[in-house]
Amino acid sequence: MGDDFDLIVVGAGMAGCAAAIRAARGGANVLLLERGAEAGVKNLSGGILWGHDLDEILPNWWEEMPVERHIVRKRFGVLTPDDAVSFDFQDHRWARAPYVAHSVLRVRTDAWLAKKAEEAGATVVTGVPVERLHWEGSRAHGVVQGGETMTAPATILCDGANSRLALGTPIRPAPRLSRDATELGMKEVYRLEAGVLEDRFGVGPGEGHAEEWVAGTLPPGVMGGGFLYTNRDTLSVGLILHLGSMFGKNVQSHDLMEKFKLHPAIASRLRGAELVEYGAKLISSGWASRPAAFAGDGWMVAGDAAGFVFSNGVVIQGMNYALRTGLLAAETALEAKAASRSGPGALAGYVARLESSHVLPDFRDFADMDRVKWNPEFYGRYPRFAAEFFHGMMTESGRPKEPLRRTLRRAQRAAGLSTRALLQEGWDLLRYF
Ligand SMILES: Cc1cc2nc3c(=O)[nH]c(=O)nc-3n(C[C@H](O)[C@H](O)[C@H](O)COP(=O)(O)OP(=O)(O)OC[C@H]3O[C@@H](n4cnc5c(N)ncnc54)[C@H](O)[C@@H]3O)c2cc1C
Repeated sequence: MGDDFDLIVVGAGMAGCAAAIRAARGGANVLLLERGAEAGVKNLSGGILWGHDLDEILPNWWEEMPVERHIVRKRFGVLTPDDAVSFDFQDHRWARAPYVAHSVLRVRTDAWLAKKAEEAGATVVTGVPVERLHWEGSRAHGVVQGGETMTAPATILCDGANSRLALGTPIRPAPRLSRDATELGMKEVYRLEAGVLEDRFGVGPGEGHAEEWVAGTLPPGVMGGGFLYTNRDTLSVGLILHLGSMFGKNVQSHDLMEKFKLHPAIASRLRGAELVEYGAKLISSGWASRPAAFAGDGWMVAGDAAGFVFSNGVVIQGMNYALRTGLLAAETALEAKAASRSGPGALAGYVARLESSHVLPDFRDFADMDRVKWNPEFYGRYPRFAAEFFHGMMTESGRPKEPLRRTLRRAQRAAGLSTRALLQEGWDLLRYF
């Protein structure tokens, strides 16, 4: 008997929708299953979408997709409990079409993408939490939900960071994610009238501002970064924490979020804004969180489920990799269908595609980044050092001016940083930026 579908895609996030659109347009009979009542309601990103990967399936997507603002300025900085040192970047090339980055709210974008999948011919069913893959020996042959089995020669897992369908299976043999390869993302959305927002962030109508901070507001040993992004008439503010660094420290994530928001550099941005929404979600931590394999007999893994989130402490990019890997998995399924290939090895082309695209090279080249970026000193001593140094350099003290190297030494002493550590860790950082 034939299969119910050519391809089953689990999860209607960025990866799943891209896969379903591409495969349905290629002539496959696609089933896209989403556990949320609608696509997007369970999803959370900061979120800045670098959307190039949509160009090939939805040209000029930004004209129709419900995006918030196109980003024209970025600010990156470090916070100490009281001070802030930051760098502001404005790029005129970002200000015109094709815009490179947009702030987005996933509840809007994902619903729109799922509709595009439906228009392409995919069967999209929401409110369906898939229970498990249907295993026939070592072959995954569709999915099981509500006691019913739906079969397909290929299934793509696009079910996000905490992929329950993969845990405890040959895809991810461990029963749970490693806390050292997982991050916790929290986000709140605040309403702020568009005109006030534009004045406050120095942007024009439709233009957006994004800022990312090394959160030196956290207790010793806890590591993480914060963000603040402008939407149409709301602000997204959030904190991303290294899960492993929180264990055994008796800290509550919401207290850390409050402390971040109360920092003068952040509080001044939120003045008069009204909280309308909040949420939290786990984030895969790049290469360290990859599964045992990206493809096997009857299955492929894309997006966060495969650990494809690039985060170096300054930027977090997951949506673009989710889109790209969803597309590559769909192309592999189409190729196998065209060649009537099934069985072990039929979907091996996915790994070859990940390899020949920028995806695997990016993650492999930066594989060591986690070791470098998750160094407690970057969230404690270094922000302090930066703040002390700029304080010394910028403050007129009424005393004779001192040479810069003395200011540097003074900042080093205040932060407790040896020259050796500064050179070694500075070099480590430079290699990864
Ligand atoms: C706080 C925060 C800030 C972030 N900021 C950014 C940013 O600025 N830029 C950026 O590019 N990335 C950002 N990311 C990362 C980005 O959100 C992810 O990389 C991206 O969402 C991955 O897309 P995905 O489709 O793989 O997974 P998801 O978006 O997680 O989608 C998975 C989908 O699968 C569904 N699902 C799960 N299990 C099942 C099941 N059993 N049955 C059916 N459906 C299921 C879910 O409901 C969901 O719709 C951020 C993440 C967080 C948490």
